[in-house]
Amino acid sequence: MISIRIENLTKRFGTTVALRNLDLVIEPGELFFLLGPSGCGKTTLLRSMAGFYIPEEGRIFLGDEDVTRLAPHKRNTGMMFQSYALWPHMTVAENVAFGLEERKVPRDEIKRRVGEALESVRMDTYAARKPNQLSGGQQQRVALARALVIRPRCLLLDEPLSNLDAKLRLEMRMEIRRVCKEFKLTTVYVTHDQKEALSISDRMAIMESGNILQVGSPREVYRRPKRKTVAHFIGETDFIEGRVLGIDGEFTVVETGIGRFHGVLGDADSKAVAGDAVTLSVRPECWTLGHEARPHNTVRGRIGEAVYLGEVAQYDFISDGVTLKIYELNPRFLGASAEAGELVASVEPQDVVVLTA
Ligand code: ATP
Repeated sequence: MISIRIENLTKRFGTTVALRNLDLVIEPGELFFLLGPSGCGKTTLLRSMAGFYIPEEGRIFLGDEDVTRLAPHKRNTGMMFQSYALWPHMTVAENVAFGLEERKVPRDEIKRRVGEALESVRMDTYAARKPNQLSGGQQQRVALARALVIRPRCLLLDEPLSNLDAKLRLEMRMEIRRVCKEFKLTTVYVTHDQKEALSISDRMAIMESGNILQVGSPREVYRRPKRKTVAHFIGETDFIEGRVLGIDGEFTVVETGIGRFHGVLGDADSKAVAGDAVTLSVRPECWTLGHEARPHNTVRGRIGEAVYLGEVAQYDFISDGVTLKIYELNPRFLGASAEAGELVASVEPQDVVVLTA
């Protein structure tokens, strides 16, 4: 298992700065995700690790080896991209064997390793088929076997599941995690799909404009976003503007147009003092609807639009001209929404994230 270390990386395309002075360490054996809005630099970072782009500044280490200027085929990275592009005229086994033949591996060993790689993605019984005789998910498995068969030092995946339908994506993402952990492979995974990242990653980086905004476990990033852009990018959230009144023990006290809140700082290293303008971030599922108001962390209002989704109902909760999104699991207030009249939405201080400017 190796670490991947990025030091002060800058990559420009003409006048566009795709990566700026970026630092990142991915730990050995980690399944690490790169997330962020379109154009933030995810693919550029991944392709720099693979060796397809040479950065203007900075260094890339695979383990202890500085690979910054090493050609892609000498890095021994396994890759799987959006278009998995299997050779249509070759069988599954021939497709997987291709990388080994290029490396002049002896015939017997090729046969054995292709068998093992296909077995590891549960495709050994399909070895003689051509790609057009396989489903999308099966083709994706073959592409994964092809990346694994060369015994790469690490795995680089760029939107590997984007061509699959929703059900197959669910199945394949668990499969990718299983394979990465089984082979103890440090893996970097680029996706637009937050659920993919939240469900299988060990840690993730949220990027914006060539920078990394936050690195953490799915839980850390979702529950304690350090900035508004991170809270906005991952999951749904209600933002409430306010001003700091003071500190009460571990909580920051904030006055807003719809009530007073006790909350926790998203960035534990940041400081908030009385008078500071801050934004509160509350996840829609953290609200509880009821009738009892408390001195703080409750909002009076009424349900506007309601959408029933089976296990959950999504409400627009209107309070003093402010609309909050509130999700209620096992909905009780749905039928009563019109006649319920005034309700109280409350939230625990631990679920109110205070974001400083
Ligand atoms: P997406 O989610 O849309 O795939 P991304 O986060 O992967 O986006 P990149 O593809 O890394 O973003 O692009 C980062 C920036 O660099 C963008 O502004 C993009 O337009 C620019 N860029 C990327 N590749 C090139 C290229 N080959 N030539 C010129 N500009 C490029």
